[in-house]
Amino acid sequence: MNATKIIFNSGDRFRVISVDNQIDRLNIYVQSTQKGSVCPNCCLVSSKIHSYYTRKFNDLPSFGKSSRIFLRARKFYCLTDECPLKVFTERFDNHFRSYQRKTERLQARLLNIAIEAGGKSAERICGEFSIPVSDTTLLRIIDRTELPKSDKVEALGIDDWAIRKRERYGSILVDLATNRPIGLLADREEATLTNWLKQRDKIRIISRDRYVVISEGECQ
Ligand SMILES: [Zn+2]
Repeated sequence: MNATKIIFNSGDRFRVISVDNQIDRLNIYVQSTQKGSVCPNCCLVSSKIHSYYTRKFNDLPSFGKSSRIFLRARKFYCLTDECPLKVFTERFDNHFRSYQRKTERLQARLLNIAIEAGGKSAERICGEFSIPVSDTTLLRIIDRTELPKSDKVEALGIDDWAIRKRERYGSILVDLATNRPIGLLADREEATLTNWLKQRDKIRIISRDRYVVISEGECQ
């Protein structure tokens, strides 16, 4: 059985070297098959290798086990004399983004689960599927995603979410009609919420946890 064909699509430029089947985890060792990489500064392709290093990524779980990819990546010399970036790290078209520790496909699933279930529930669901992730990380994924427009929202839900490992709390704002997050506030202060509400004058119902209040606008 060819592990590369199972784990990657036909056009992907990666090869699985080996799979280490541990009790609770699959460690998948992967190398890139692309000839070179584009310098992020001058955009010239280089195949002159400087060195190798390993990047680690959490991936979608397989067969009830969490999956970790160990990607053997390279550093290249830039071939442009005037380019200040003498050495740069390998870039990939898909799956493995710079500065990320999760594969793109895992990141996309986590975003959907976090949006559907919220922080704490999403953490429990991910745990059931052998995806180790905290509610804080899940909410950060939402935070980094472009949120839908919120100027037409009429019913708003507000939940707490922990920032920096529960040392500080903010608020996550959810459109109750679609159950999708539409905003994140850095704290739980009334003034911050009031300020956010000023630009959304269509909101008539606000639900904080399970306690629903009708905004003043409804009574006028
Ligand atoms: Zn360059």
